[in-house]
Amino acid sequence: MKKTIRDIDWAGKTAVMRCDFNVPLDGDRITDETRIQAALPSINYLIENGAAIVLMSHLGRPKGQAKPEFSLLPVAKRLSECLGKEVRFVASDVVVDDDVRAAAKELGAGDVMLIENVRYRAEEEKNDPEFAKDLASLGDIFVQEAFGTSHRAHASTTGIADYIPAVSGFLIEKELKFLGEAVNNPQRPFAAIMGGAKVKDKIPVITNLLDKVDILIIGGGMSYTFFKAQGHSIGTSLLDEEGLELAADILKKAEEKGVKFLLPVDVVAADEFANDSPHDTYPVDAIPDNRMGLDIGAETIKLFTETLKTAKTVVWNGPMGVFEMENFAVGTKAIAECLAEIDATTVIGGGDSAAAVTQFGLADKMTHISTGGGASLEFLEGRELPGIAVIDDK
Ligand code: ADP
Ligand code: MG
Repeated sequence: MKKTIRDIDWAGKTAVMRCDFNVPLDGDRITDETRIQAALPSINYLIENGAAIVLMSHLGRPKGQAKPEFSLLPVAKRLSECLGKEVRFVASDVVVDDDVRAAAKELGAGDVMLIENVRYRAEEEKNDPEFAKDLASLGDIFVQEAFGTSHRAHASTTGIADYIPAVSGFLIEKELKFLGEAVNNPQRPFAAIMGGAKVKDKIPVITNLLDKVDILIIGGGMSYTFFKAQGHSIGTSLLDEEGLELAADILKKAEEKGVKFLLPVDVVAADEFANDSPHDTYPVDAIPDNRMGLDIGAETIKLFTETLKTAKTVVWNGPMGVFEMENFAVGTKAIAECLAEIDATTVIGGGDSAAAVTQFGLADKMTHISTGGGASLEFLEGRELPGIAVIDDK
């Protein structure tokens, strides 16, 4: 078990907290403040428990240079409004300098400040020890709360923990609880649904999950590579040439391991990659040469949902079709609705899958939606994330 902010007596201490304030901006207007809202419980806990708080984050890709369009100033303003108290924005082009250090020292119990975008410094992504030490010098205890960057060993996510103790915030605690429990100690039957575009990207995830799941369901763009590996013609559907051999390998492994392995039995295929393109449903062995599969068909929806109803734990990564287009969102929506209804632990990992579930208004019906796209994938691969590994054990 990893230590959390609950395990610290904060009186007289300063927290240096790595948040994920990488919010989408239109000029200096924040167009989606989900990530700011998500950080509030941990910040409020620290305030209530008498900590002084130094917040840090990256925003976009300023590539090691001070670029005003990537400044965290809009975040400081919005955070102040959300917390109902001033968040001092102590900006420096080098992120940490004497003024920033002095401002951090002056903080009293419950005071909050935000420093400038850590990626203003190239040393951040290089995990430079001197920069990590500079960040550590701003406080007494490192709080890891940015799951989305925890798979990267950067100065503000990993290096800093070489100099001060490290604990997790509530967001990380939740990710470890739900993703970790699902993968390592699931209630069975345990089903994984894999979809999305590329087989190659997700092979390590599928391979790792094959050792853990009872049921593996494959849908979405990646299923065509499996069909091809089985000898079906797939028309103009997405094919991951490099993934062909790997797909054949997975089919074999699944059989060896006795995993219930489900592929679509019918697909919705269209003339073109466009919402208004003419389309029909075909069995997987009858996809026309001039059409591309963009969604799972009705028979498949029935097969998948009937199977999922038997599961007690479900991890879902990757949409079942091109859900961004209304006509090809049917399969993804049906799976989301099924997961919303069943009596099981349901965990969504992957940026587009999370977006799909949110788009259907079903986000609050899931047990857990992971906030880290790449990070949750690496977690599902069974890899140790460097930003998690550095958190002190209880
Ligand atoms: P996640 O972000 O949840 O891990 P991916 O990034 O792997 O998911 O894949 C999501 C993308 O896959 C979506 O943009 C979706 O439109 C696309 N996709 C799903 N099914 C198909 C398909 N049959 N053909 C082409 N693209 C597809
Ligand atoms: Mg994606």
